[in-house]
Amino acid sequence: MAMVNTVLGPISTDELGPTLIHEHLLLAYPGWECDALAVPYDREAIAMACVEALERAKAYGMRTMVDATPIDLGRDVELQKQVSERAGINIICATGLYMEAMGKPAYFKFRSQAFDVSIEMYEIFMKEITQGIGDTGVKAGVIKVATGHGEISAYEEMVLKAAARAQKDTGTPIITHTEEGTMGPEQAALLISEGAAPERIVIGHIGGNANLQYHISILEKGVYIAFDRLGLEFMFPDTLRKACIIGLVSIGYADRIMLSHDYCGDYSVCWQGRPFEVPDFAKPLFANWSYAHVFKDIIPALKEAGVSDDKIDTMMVQNPRRLFSGE
Ligand SMILES: [Zn+2]
Repeated sequence: MAMVNTVLGPISTDELGPTLIHEHLLLAYPGWECDALAVPYDREAIAMACVEALERAKAYGMRTMVDATPIDLGRDVELQKQVSERAGINIICATGLYMEAMGKPAYFKFRSQAFDVSIEMYEIFMKEITQGIGDTGVKAGVIKVATGHGEISAYEEMVLKAAARAQKDTGTPIITHTEEGTMGPEQAALLISEGAAPERIVIGHIGGNANLQYHISILEKGVYIAFDRLGLEFMFPDTLRKACIIGLVSIGYADRIMLSHDYCGDYSVCWQGRPFEVPDFAKPLFANWSYAHVFKDIIPALKEAGVSDDKIDTMMVQNPRRLFSGE
C-alpha cells in the first residue's frame, strides 16, 4: 500500500480523496519582517482564518490540500498541524525553495562561493523528507521548486537539480511554480534529465496562458500540469482557463490535469506584513478566489460543458493518488 506523509503522519494514498494540489495557508514574502509597520505574526488568528476557509471547501467534499509553501516563503509546520487537526483536512507540506527573484537566495549565493550548493540543497530536502522538518517530526510530502519569467536562473537550476536528485532517491513528487506558465517544458526537461520521473512531476500555474499548443508541449513530456490559480482572475480570466481544461480533457488529457487555486487564506490575516486591502477596482477579480471555488463553480461548469463525473474524479482524486503512489 502506497503511503504519503501528511503533517499529522503517513496515510494511505487511497485516503487522499478530492485533493487541491497547490494551495497555501499563509504568505510571507522575505522582507516583510523588515517592515516596522507590519502586523506581528499571529499564528492563532491565521489558524482560525484558515480553518474557516477550509471548512467551506470541506462542505463540498474536499479532503486534502497540498500546502505548496516552500521553506523560504514563511512555511509554518506548527500552523499546518493545528489547521489540519482543527479542520479535519489532510495537509501535505513541502520542502523546497522559491524562485530567485522573490525567495531567499542570499545565504546560498554566499555559500556558493566556496561550496557546491546544489548538493547542500539536496541534503536539506532529504533531511526534511526522511527525518522531518526541524524537530517537529513532520516529514515533507512534496518538493516545491520555482523559476522566473521566461528564464531559469543559475540559482533556480541548482534548486531544480537538487529536487530531481531528492525525488530520484525518495520518490517524493515535485510541484513547480512557473511565472504565467513560462518555462514549463524547460522545467520538465531539466528535472527529467536529472533523474526525476515524469509521473511524479506537476508543472504548475499553467493556466497563466491559454496557449493549448504550449500546454500540449508540456504534456508530451509525460508530466502532470496544474490549472492551479482558478478564481485568481486578477492574473488571468477563468473563462479561458475553463476553455483550456475542457479542450484538453476532450482530447484525452484528463489523466494528466489537476485543478487548484493557489489560494492563501484571508489576505487581511494570512498575508504577512502591513494589513493588505485589495483596491476597489480589483475586488471583482478576487471575488471567486477561495479553497471552495473549484468544487462550487468550476466543476459544475465543466459538467455543464459535458465533462463526465468520471473525468472529474480522475482530475480531483485519481491523479493526486497516482502522483503520490508513483503509478
Ligand atoms: Zn503557490
